[in-house]
Amino acid sequence: MSQDRTIQGVAVSPGLAIGPVHVVQADTAEVPTWTVAENEVAGEIDRLAAAVKTASQELEKRQLEVARVSDKKDAEIFAVHRMILQDPSSLRRVEEQIVQEGINAESAVQSLITRFEALADVSDPWRHVLDALLARDREEVASSEQRVVLAAQELTPKVMTFLERERILGVITEAGGRFSHGAVLARAFGIPCVVGVPNLLARLEQNLLVTVDGDRGAVQLRPDQEQIDELLEIKKQREARRDALRTIGELPAETPDGRRLELQVNIESVRDIQTFEIAHTDGVGLFRTEFLYMERPQFPSEEEQYRLYRRVLREMKGLPTTMRTLDIGADKPLPYFKTPTEPNPALGWRGIRITLEWRDFLYSQLRAFLRASIHGNLRILLPMVTSLEEIREVHEVFDSVRTELLQQGYEVAADIPVGVMIEVPSMLIALETVIDHVDFVSVGTNDLVQYILAADRDNRWVSRLYDPQHPAVMLALQRVARVAGEAGHPSAVCGDLAGDPAMAVLLHGMGYDSVSVAPHFVADIKYAIRKIPWAEARELADEALRQSVSRGVNDVIARIRARLYDDAAAGVQPDSPTPRA
Ligand code: PEP
Ligand code: MG
Repeated sequence: MSQDRTIQGVAVSPGLAIGPVHVVQADTAEVPTWTVAENEVAGEIDRLAAAVKTASQELEKRQLEVARVSDKKDAEIFAVHRMILQDPSSLRRVEEQIVQEGINAESAVQSLITRFEALADVSDPWRHVLDALLARDREEVASSEQRVVLAAQELTPKVMTFLERERILGVITEAGGRFSHGAVLARAFGIPCVVGVPNLLARLEQNLLVTVDGDRGAVQLRPDQEQIDELLEIKKQREARRDALRTIGELPAETPDGRRLELQVNIESVRDIQTFEIAHTDGVGLFRTEFLYMERPQFPSEEEQYRLYRRVLREMKGLPTTMRTLDIGADKPLPYFKTPTEPNPALGWRGIRITLEWRDFLYSQLRAFLRASIHGNLRILLPMVTSLEEIREVHEVFDSVRTELLQQGYEVAADIPVGVMIEVPSMLIALETVIDHVDFVSVGTNDLVQYILAADRDNRWVSRLYDPQHPAVMLALQRVARVAGEAGHPSAVCGDLAGDPAMAVLLHGMGYDSVSVAPHFVADIKYAIRKIPWAEARELADEALRQSVSRGVNDVIARIRARLYDDAAAGVQPDSPTPRA
C-alpha cells in the first residue's frame, strides 16, 4: 500500500466511499484552493475567461438598472469597472499564476484581489469575477448527475447540505470537530466522513479519485486498483454484517433479563422519515427543526410549518414525536436572519436565548406545533435552556398560544409534554430545582460535553480535550438519570454519544429510559442491548463511574465492545459513531 497517498485524519462518520472529489467553498469569505493538473490548465483558463465575461455582463446590467432608477452619472462607475476587467495586464497576471503555480482560477483571482485590496477600483470588479467563478462551479456540480466526495476547509452544516445527500458519497475536511453540527449531520445522513486531514485542499485537484474510510479515518488519493479492491471487499463484509443485524429489526431493545430501553431516532427533515422503518423504533426523540428553516430562502410561514409538522406526526403513526424548538445561532445561521458576529459563539446567542428574545419565532412555531398536535403524539423539547425562568417564560407563551388557538376554534391535543435539553451545566447542577417543572429531560451530550470540559465542539485545537469519556461526563450523565428517575420523570440522551452501542449499554445501566440516535445505528444498538443483561450493564456502569481518568472509562467501553463483538455475526466490528481514541 503506498503510504504517500494515504492520509490519516479523524474518523467522524462510518462507512466507505470511493469517488471523484469536489472541493467546496464553505463560506463566501473563504476561497477554495486546489491544484490543477497540467492537462487541466487550459480548462481553468477557459473558466476564467467565461467568468470575466459573466462579470462584465453583470456589470452592464447593473449600469443600465442604476441609470434607469437614478441618473447616468451614478451608473458610470459600472462602466469604469467593466473597462478595468478588460485591462489585459491584470488578466495576464491571473492567467500566469494559474499556469505557473498550477492552481484553480478562484484562487488566482483571490490573490489578485488581495494584492490590490487597497485599490477598490481594481479589486471590486475582480470580486464579480470571483463570484461568477464560485457560482458557476456550484451550478455545474449541482446540475450534473455526478455523485462526489465533498472536500472543504471546515465541516459546517452548509457543506453537508451543499448537494442533495444521495449525491454525496463522502465528506473530507481539513478542520472540524467530531461533534460539530456538520459531523452530527454526516452521521445522521449516513455519509462516511473524515475530518482533520492535514493540508488536504493543497493536495487535491477537482475530480481527483479518492477513497474515504470513515471507520478508520483514512483518506487515499489516487487509489490504485489493488487498494480499491481491498476497500470494496471490506465494504461487502460490513454490508453482510448489517444485513445479518436487520433480522433483529422488529425486536425491541430489551435485555435478556427483561429491561427495555426505549430506542428513538434523531431526524433533521421530513424526508428522513423515509430512511428507516418506523415500526422498528419507539418514535422520534429529537427532530432538529432548525434544518427546515435553514434549507429555505426565507422564514417559513406558520401555515407552511404546520403542514410539515402535521406530515411528520401523521407519518409517525401515533408514536411519540419530539420536536425541538428552533435551535439556531453559532454554526447554524439562518440565511435570512442576521445574527451578530460573536467572539465566542458557543457561549453566545443561541437556541432558546434567541427565540425568547425574538418571540415571533417561538410564537409562530408553537402555534404550528399545537395546531398539528391532534395529528399524532407530539412532545416539545427546548434547546439550550439555562434557567427555570426561561422554562417559565416558554410555558407562558405556550399557554397563551393554546388559549388563543382554542378561542380561534382550533383543536389542540389535551396533553403535550414539554421537556428540556440538558446541555448547559447550570441545568445539570440545579436539576433538582427544575425537574418538577418539566415533563421529561433529554441530554444533549454534544453541547454538554463542550460546556463541562470548556472545549468548543467546533474547534480543532481543543478536539483532543473534547472527550465524551471524561469521568466528569460520566458522573454528569449518571446524575441526570438519577435525579430524573427519583422525581419520576423520563430521562433520555439524544446527543451523538448515545449512538455508540457500548455507550448505549452504559447509559441503560445508569438508568436512562431512552436513547435517541441517528436511524443508521438502531440495529447495532438493539443488538447490544439484547446481548448484555441489565444486571451486568449496571455493574459496568458502576465500574465506569468509579474511574478517575478517561483511560479507565475507555477500558470499560473496550471490554463491552469485545463482549459484544467477539462472537458477532460475520466477525466484523460494526461501524461506530464515536470514533475510538
Ligand atoms: C446536543 O447538543 O447533543 C444535541 C443533541 O443538539 P445539537 O447537536 O443539535 O446541538
Ligand atoms: Mg445541542
